[in-house]
Amino acid sequence: MKIIESPEELQKVTSNYRVQGKKIGFVPTMGFLHEGHEQLIRQAKQQNEIVVLSIFVNPLQFGEGEDLNHYPRDEEHDKEVARKLGVDIIFFPTVKNMYPTEPAIKLTVTKRTNVLCGKSRPGHFGGVVTVLAKLFHLCQPSSAYFGMKDAQQVAVVEALVNDLNFPVEIVPVPTVREPDGLAKSSRNVNLSPQEREEASAILKALQSGRKMIQDGETGIENVKTAVNTFIENNTHGKIDYIELLSYPSLEPVDKPMGQMILATAVKFERARLIDNLVFDSNGEII
Ligand code: AMP
Repeated sequence: MKIIESPEELQKVTSNYRVQGKKIGFVPTMGFLHEGHEQLIRQAKQQNEIVVLSIFVNPLQFGEGEDLNHYPRDEEHDKEVARKLGVDIIFFPTVKNMYPTEPAIKLTVTKRTNVLCGKSRPGHFGGVVTVLAKLFHLCQPSSAYFGMKDAQQVAVVEALVNDLNFPVEIVPVPTVREPDGLAKSSRNVNLSPQEREEASAILKALQSGRKMIQDGETGIENVKTAVNTFIENNTHGKIDYIELLSYPSLEPVDKPMGQMILATAVKFERARLIDNLVFDSNGEII
């Protein structure tokens, strides 16, 4: 396993693989790897000859007062996981490597972003697509793997590759969960024991909303209210949003139709958790 810090070196190495006709699978992460990330890596490994994993906590996608300085890190553990799973290259750049000077160009996302996390995190998705544009150029992947836990990110990244013609296939990977249903996240370590226990109510709330649609409920507000009440009654978290939107276009819907996302973000003392379900108008999971 190669560990590369320099963007120029990564581009040189991946160019060589491309010349040899090798398929490169790319898994971009912010590190502190858990089984969610592992699932992305495993799938990339199955479908490609070379797997590149990037670990970079990208300052551009963090806003004022967000957890950039508290984002958990564990380089040694991450290297061990990557080695175990057969990653070929870890790209571990420093902030200085990626942004030697204040960037003159930053991308802006104009759709799919004024809802869900985009609404309370202005500039977040601009930061995500700017770093991904750089990473795609450096890594030159045929496919890139993203978790459906961050379903809005998947929708935005699909728009990035379509609108800017990146020759990269975006592969969405289902959310990996703890046995009690909590979506695995690097941020879960910041939950207190009581919050950790309460957090399993998030998926249960979303499932109860989906069940209402499955049982014929057509009132979007009724579904959102029920999800809200369930979370309020079962956690001390503060609900940031509960939304039911079309997916992946992330537009409001009047009644259940087509492919939809039911999503929430809940703020606990030191961790903001997100989760979602994507399903069709019959409530069948997609
Ligand atoms: P992060 O390191 O949080 O930026 O996540 C890197 C990638 O892993 C993103 O595509 C996430 O959507 C994905 N990911 C994070 N948690 C999970 C999970 N529980 N299940 C599936 N994918 C995940």
